[in-house]
Amino acid sequence: MSLMSRTVQIRQHGGPEELQWVDLPVGDPGPGEIRIRHHAIGLNFIDVYHRTGLYPLNMPATIGMEAAGVVEAVGEGVTHLQVGDRAAYASPPPGSYCELRVMPAKCVCKLPDAIGFETGAAMMLKGLTAQYLLKKTLPVQGLQPGDQVLFHAAAGGVGLIACQWAKALGLQLIATAGTDAKCQLALANGAAHAINYRSEDFAQRVQQITGGKGVKVVYDSVGKDTWEQSLACLRPLGLMASFGNASGPVPPFAPGLLGTKGSLYVTRQTLFTHIATRASTQAMADDLFAVVAGGQVKIRIEQRYRLADVQQAHRDLEARKTIGSTIFTL
Ligand code: NDP
Repeated sequence: MSLMSRTVQIRQHGGPEELQWVDLPVGDPGPGEIRIRHHAIGLNFIDVYHRTGLYPLNMPATIGMEAAGVVEAVGEGVTHLQVGDRAAYASPPPGSYCELRVMPAKCVCKLPDAIGFETGAAMMLKGLTAQYLLKKTLPVQGLQPGDQVLFHAAAGGVGLIACQWAKALGLQLIATAGTDAKCQLALANGAAHAINYRSEDFAQRVQQITGGKGVKVVYDSVGKDTWEQSLACLRPLGLMASFGNASGPVPPFAPGLLGTKGSLYVTRQTLFTHIATRASTQAMADDLFAVVAGGQVKIRIEQRYRLADVQQAHRDLEARKTIGSTIFTL
């Protein structure tokens, strides 16, 4: 008799009401795959893009990109995981909103003893993103201690990890967030300055804070609403690191604009390029595990929902009501 998994599925792109519970059969893992039983599941903004169709999926579709649990079965050729291992992942294909699943083993990492399931589920996608943003996204100059960077939506899941990690690296992170309370949270988590970008002109404040020089890097996951002003925050030869679209996609622009703003660089990064191989995934995860186990980065789980309440969780995330990381329990 085949195993069944309670799973969240969408039959078409749309609002949170499209997220429906179904029972799906789960088979044995094939070559390069594992079967994992989840203990906790992470909520991420990319799940909203998958649900709405900003990032289209074939229907019917399962969603969710992050979870932690126990390895139940291992397919041929998988050598880094064994049955019974505690493990966590950030990985395509979407489908982590479920009790158990079969998935590629490549992006699944063994969890160190010091890191629990909930922390694992709350940090893999967000923490590996903070890792590559701060350490692998500046091929041109390299960030040095003391450098000033601007990080939008800094009280969110990726944001609070980035605030703490940037401080541990000696960077001066200027945070933006949508309420004064969120700004305080960013400051309490290591940001050097915080700007409420819904009540203040953040580009003007950045120029004040940096003495008119501008920052070396802007990390922008907000997209449409912040794009143009973000360019005005950069010093000459600065880097615009676009990595998300919480307010909508960045509109098309003419490259000549980058010249007139001081020979700026622009990159649009995605985690999945950085974790394309087992070796790169493990190296980045080891870096993340070290700062989490070492206490330099604390994973702030500020919201917990039952997976059955997935619709409410999506509503709250889109309404900007969440802070830090959010997990689902089963
Ligand atoms: P967050 O917890 O940061 O939630 C998103 C935040 O964006 C909100 O809390 C809100 O904070 C801010 N925001 C600004 N404008 C809007 C808007 N119009 N609607 C909704 N939210 C808005 O989410 P995550 O930590 O999961 O992800 C953060 C961002 O990073 C997302 O854009 C995500 O897509 C991106 N990302 C990209 C990755 C990549 O590799 N490219 C990987 C992981 C995440 P506030 O109220 O303070 O403005």
